[in-house]
Amino acid sequence: MTTQEINTSEYAEQLETRYAEASRRGEFYIQEGTIYFDGNSLGLLSKRAEASLLAMMDAWKRHGIDGWTQGEKPWFHLSEQIGGSMAPLVGAKPVSVIATGSTTSNLHQLLATFFKPEEGRTKIVADELNFPTDIYAIQSQLKLHGLDPAEHLIQVKSRDGQTLTTEDIIGALTDDTAIVILSGVLYRSGQVLDMARITEAAHERGILAGFDLCHSIGSIPHTLDDWDVDFAFWCTYKHLNGGPGATGGLYVNERHFGTAPGLAGWFGSDKDRQFDLAHTFTPAADAGALQMGTPHLLSAAPLIGSLELLNEVGIGAIRERSLALTGYLQQLIQLELAAYGFTVASPAGDTERGGHVFLVHPEAARICKALKANGLIPDFRAPNGIRLAPVALYNTFEEVRSAVQLLKRIMEEEQYKQFENKRDVVA
Ligand SMILES: *Cc1c(COP(=O)(O)O)cnc(C)c1O
Repeated sequence: MTTQEINTSEYAEQLETRYAEASRRGEFYIQEGTIYFDGNSLGLLSKRAEASLLAMMDAWKRHGIDGWTQGEKPWFHLSEQIGGSMAPLVGAKPVSVIATGSTTSNLHQLLATFFKPEEGRTKIVADELNFPTDIYAIQSQLKLHGLDPAEHLIQVKSRDGQTLTTEDIIGALTDDTAIVILSGVLYRSGQVLDMARITEAAHERGILAGFDLCHSIGSIPHTLDDWDVDFAFWCTYKHLNGGPGATGGLYVNERHFGTAPGLAGWFGSDKDRQFDLAHTFTPAADAGALQMGTPHLLSAAPLIGSLELLNEVGIGAIRERSLALTGYLQQLIQLELAAYGFTVASPAGDTERGGHVFLVHPEAARICKALKANGLIPDFRAPNGIRLAPVALYNTFEEVRSAVQLLKRIMEEEQYKQFENKRDVVA
């Protein structure tokens, strides 16, 4: 189709109708006059998430300490229940998922539990494109075992600086590898990795496979149980819309139930034994064993409403609409912005593209500032990347069209030149 045909309100409206099933725009707080394309960094607040947080405050107000066992959502079993609500999004049995910690602390816990270099395999395979915190956690866990990260952390290289090939990943899985840890969706390019094939290849070589699902949970479907993934971990403030610093999540394959947690704490206890207050730890029989201290319930409460909404729509419909949104965005970028030096670094194919589009441009930092000044909220990633996330639940096809028009105007009029090409403190 030509630009004339697809860059029209009528065409955007047609797409809106075709993919209406997953739109819940009316349930979210959207600032007037803005186009929010940053839901992959911090998802927006929904009315249901707000209501479930307020309900938690009310339970505290009315029940005090008895909130642990009384009220509509007693707190004692809440982390397990919220874990159960996340299970359909990762394709797992509810007992394999627990709401706890953060991405970083959960990775530490999982490595403390599953990385056992004394059994002869001393290497951890990751990649050179991963988010720094994952790499820091792996490096420090290696050091705790007296291993030099320079030698024992193997980072799979990217051929194009943006994506990884399954071939290169599998090629890095050597006889002395203990664990491979990769992202389900890469945080910059948005590439979806083939978690099934990587897990299979890892298992053929006696290696455990763990995945960081920060950018994939809530944006693409997973079937962790079927893929036989060993463990996974994620945050809930991106596509799960749990709010800033919301309680994270982790998955442990049923096969590993009974493995003693590396970092034990009393909230990992078997629930019936926890208040025996014994000095001999009896861990829970499921993923709950990996919890440590008292759960951060005020940071978990918004997830109750937010997950209800996500599960009501279903990840299948969300993925369909998301692909249509990012696909439309990529099409328009190619048609409208080719002359201005942008490279689309996210994969074009539907099986390989996550929930956001990644644009590379040497002036990215100040283009982002110009976009913000015009009401479009993007996400800058140093040194030269612009992430644009049209989110299925609350963004529209017309917003995608407006965003591309705005980008074109900023480039045509050289508006970005009014800003410094430097990142802000949080970017
Ligand atoms: C967002 C993100 C994190 C964040 O870690 P926190 O512990 O939640 O701060 C970690 N890893 C990846 C890949 C991410 O995208």
